[in-house]
Amino acid sequence: MDGNLPRGADAPFYLPQGDECEVFAAAAAHDLPVLLKGPTGCGKTRFVAHMAARLGRPLYTVACHDDLSAADLIGRYLLKGGETVWVDGPLTRAVREGAICYLDEVVEARKDVTVVLHPLTDDRRILPIDRTGEELEAAPGFLLVASYNPGYQNILKTLKPSTRQRFVSLEFGFPRAEHEIPVVARESGLAEDRVAPLVRLAGKLRAMKGQDLEEGISTRLVVYAATLIAGGMGVERAIRTAMIEPLTDDPDVKAGLRDLVTAVF
Ligand code: ADP
Repeated sequence: MDGNLPRGADAPFYLPQGDECEVFAAAAAHDLPVLLKGPTGCGKTRFVAHMAARLGRPLYTVACHDDLSAADLIGRYLLKGGETVWVDGPLTRAVREGAICYLDEVVEARKDVTVVLHPLTDDRRILPIDRTGEELEAAPGFLLVASYNPGYQNILKTLKPSTRQRFVSLEFGFPRAEHEIPVVARESGLAEDRVAPLVRLAGKLRAMKGQDLEEGISTRLVVYAATLIAGGMGVERAIRTAMIEPLTDDPDVKAGLRDLVTAVF
């Protein structure tokens, strides 16, 4: 789709699951904001870091949380050596520099954040800064990217249509086994034949989502387990530490998961 997209030899490792790199590059070429939907730990943040490097744009990543306000993104006056000085927030810096601004888990942020995003995500591409009276026009190259996890069962924390319809959207899921095995092997240094049963176990744990487990296990946790094993930890201990304890606190569910491990290994 985009023959000019650099291969990105120095970009952080990212194994594509489909045509997401080409779609992202096309959106970026046309200044279209991008929304990445998918469960936690399935590679969204890594994907953005990879694409920013390939496109040669600086990247500002903000992990959103329920206390994050528009001022945290835009900037604020701070006292420095007795003087009050304006300090740009990450969004303002990205707008000025023509960088990518990635708002991870954007629904977690306070409501005033979405108000700021609206004029930036339509063809005006402006960031009004009330405190300084500035109205910044986004520099060429500025791209807004946001992610959210539609899986969380919180009706209050979903994106309003008026916001989500300002983004082109890419759906991410947990990689298929034939993708996840090389990813985990590369990230952890554990050989693929030893990674394979961990990925098989992950598949079984993901099938339990909605029954005993709220969320499927992330690729990140599979990487952690493989990393511990590659570092010399026993397989059973590594699985308990990285693939069972992080998923649940319920003793009965844990016992059930341990039985599952025995069945897989
Ligand atoms: P998210 O942002 O979706 O919560 P991350 O991007 O932080 O998840 O991914 C967690 C980890 O999973 C990464 O640090 C990386 O090790 C691994 N990972 C997942 N998918 C991929 C992929 N397609 N290519 C390379 N690494 C991946």
